[in-house]
Amino acid sequence: MIIYCDGKFVDSQEAKISVFDHGFLYGDGVFEGIRAYNGRVFKLKEHIDRLYESANAILLNVEISRREMMDIVVETVRKNNLTDAYIRLIISRGVGDMGLDPRKCAKSEIICIAGNISLYPPSMYENGMEIITAATRRTSSDALSPRIKSLNYLNNIMAKIEANRASLMEALMLNQEGYVSEATGDNIFIIKDGIITTPPVYAGILKGVTRDSVIDLARQEGITVQEELFHLIDVYSADECFLTGTAAELIPIIMLDSRKIGDGKPGPVFKKLLAKFHEYVKTEGEPI
Ligand code: PMP
Repeated sequence: MIIYCDGKFVDSQEAKISVFDHGFLYGDGVFEGIRAYNGRVFKLKEHIDRLYESANAILLNVEISRREMMDIVVETVRKNNLTDAYIRLIISRGVGDMGLDPRKCAKSEIICIAGNISLYPPSMYENGMEIITAATRRTSSDALSPRIKSLNYLNNIMAKIEANRASLMEALMLNQEGYVSEATGDNIFIIKDGIITTPPVYAGILKGVTRDSVIDLARQEGITVQEELFHLIDVYSADECFLTGTAAELIPIIMLDSRKIGDGKPGPVFKKLLAKFHEYVKTEGEPI
């Protein structure tokens, strides 16, 4: 596997970062998870824009242009002879000393890895997934905005551990006010009486690229999509529910906190959107 690390493409054996890298010491950095389908990098511009917005929000200087960053992503996929891939792009504050002070980090570090990911077992995509609501709340926007895709995922990891302890793979998180925000690495959608609802960005969520694509695809199908705050009861009472994310793609949720959602099977709206999404990813994106 060829990895972009420290300004060059190297074999994975040689792709190493310093123990003084502040991404490692403090989670001081930002990242993106991107997918390539059928020889194209899906929504590359959107991912790179979000990466630079996250970097700007934490005052992390990125030494190269957005175009150069896009080229690194495409080149990493190409060098690994992949047409379908999961790509991880990381920018850390770089090497500093053992203190917090980011001024000690002279240069940010860019890493790009292209490989594969399988987040949940295939049976869950077919039959649906059961999840719980985590006691761990999503970080409030005035502490660390969930819109920043930073290397600090501890909050989400704590929620994931809660799911794992309940022998499940995923957890739903609420925001500080008790409204539904998102899952540990995915956005949430519910469907009731033919209307799709997903939490607005001010609910304290990552503005998912998959989320935005699904909203567009649903509207193209003539389905009403609203971005509104909602409570757990709305999920329990929904006809259908599903999660979206680059790694997860679209996955149906059939049970939350032991409450069956709808008839406990992936529903027709979900199935329609999934088919549309699979069609869409084949032709959208930056050619490799
Ligand atoms: N929320 C969180 C917390 C995430 O980490 C992610 C990305 N895995 C998402 C939502 C989904 O975003 P996207 O569709 O851009 O991958």
